[in-house]
Amino acid sequence: MFDKFHEECGIFGITGSKDAANMTYLGLYALQHRGQEATGIVSWDGKTFHQEKGVGLVSDLFNKERLGHLKGTSAIGHNRYSTTGENHLKNVQPIMVNFALGMLALAHNGNLTNAAFLRDELEAYGAIFQSTSDSEVIIHLMAQSRQKDIIGRLTEALHRVKGAYSLVILTEHGLVGARDPYGLRPLSLGRVKDAWVLASETCAFDLIDAEFIRDVEPGELVLINENGLTSYKPFPKTDPAFCVFEYVYFSRPDSRVFDHQVYEIRKNLGRQLARETAVPADIVIPVPDSGVPAALGYAEAGNLRYETGLIRNHYVGRTFIEPEQAIRHFGVKIKLNAVQDVLKGKRVVVVDDSIVRGTTSRKIIKMIRHAGAREVHLRISSPPIISPCYYGIDTPTRSELIASSHSIEEIRSYITADSLAYLSMDGMLEAVPHKTNKYCTACFSGHYPIPFTQEEVVQIGLFDPKSD
Ligand code: SF4
Repeated sequence: MFDKFHEECGIFGITGSKDAANMTYLGLYALQHRGQEATGIVSWDGKTFHQEKGVGLVSDLFNKERLGHLKGTSAIGHNRYSTTGENHLKNVQPIMVNFALGMLALAHNGNLTNAAFLRDELEAYGAIFQSTSDSEVIIHLMAQSRQKDIIGRLTEALHRVKGAYSLVILTEHGLVGARDPYGLRPLSLGRVKDAWVLASETCAFDLIDAEFIRDVEPGELVLINENGLTSYKPFPKTDPAFCVFEYVYFSRPDSRVFDHQVYEIRKNLGRQLARETAVPADIVIPVPDSGVPAALGYAEAGNLRYETGLIRNHYVGRTFIEPEQAIRHFGVKIKLNAVQDVLKGKRVVVVDDSIVRGTTSRKIIKMIRHAGAREVHLRISSPPIISPCYYGIDTPTRSELIASSHSIEEIRSYITADSLAYLSMDGMLEAVPHKTNKYCTACFSGHYPIPFTQEEVVQIGLFDPKSD
């Protein structure tokens, strides 16, 4: 309903807890923002694996009965927002298989850019795929490996794949966590009592009272079993390329991601935005909820009054059905409403985190004007999005990204704002920790940190013909 990039998946794993399934349920509940289309949990009781998965939200799918089936002291879970592979039940993760080293279940956050190529090759040698998901390629590569143990087979498989992956893998030999050498997607490690936990974001730890220990490092594999935690670093060291959009929009502001709390960074983006794009105004309002921290930062650095000028209805489900044809096209009004007394007669700065197609921004600006605002100035706490993401984020094609083919003035005119300004690339990199060369900024810059071959360019549709 909102014009945003969508994070594709959230993952969680735990071992050494008598409440493994319940903990995983809570972890997935905290990670719901990373995928709302399907969810699943697989547990291991020392003898066999148990699984429950389906289409829908975590709280809709799991009940006491289903969680009761998930016996054992180890479990992994996955929330999915479908992109690679259609949203069939067979594509819902964790993917569970039985192979030479016993039972295995895998949950993946990210996207493999050479998956189509590897799949063709594996199928030519007789592999039969159960799903259309890119993640299944990793399992087939592990099954084909001649290495003797799980880590050997996983290492061999991961040497063949390219792209973004944070993985949790439940095996009969322990719980495994892995992150690609660029560390594109996050994965953190924590402890709750004697149990170890892995999660996409630390907000999942907070809900189960787990303590954050550290991030799984880029290129690191961890195996956790009765011998404790063993770390493996089988890849040559590479410069990391953390997804900067995790700080701009995807991650929850209460999470620690890439070892830093998101809330303060998002506020910092707003402060930097105010320094770069100040305009005479009476109030600053956010586009809720994601624009809130940046708007607070903007108001603080710009010395302007912060107000709540738009109210979000949090109870609109993904399955909302518009009633009669005659009163259709509610558009953004289903989710947002303007507060007239706040906006009437004011010069308003509206802060949002990003513009994808521009359609929602246009409706929001109309709504604010309709409520009586005298001027509406839109400020965006990231640079213009000019390229799609191929690393696990649901993005439209390049030609649908308004900034890929329109100037800022053309976008301003389309969305009908009095002024429009974005944060600069330098300003964004100044506002985030770690500094410049540690980030993927491909959707803003077009420079992809993981190089593509000519074949992959065609297979993943890297350049759509309308624009290149
Ligand atoms: S292209 Fe954008 S959304 Fe994708 S990983 Fe890079 S920064 Fe993140």
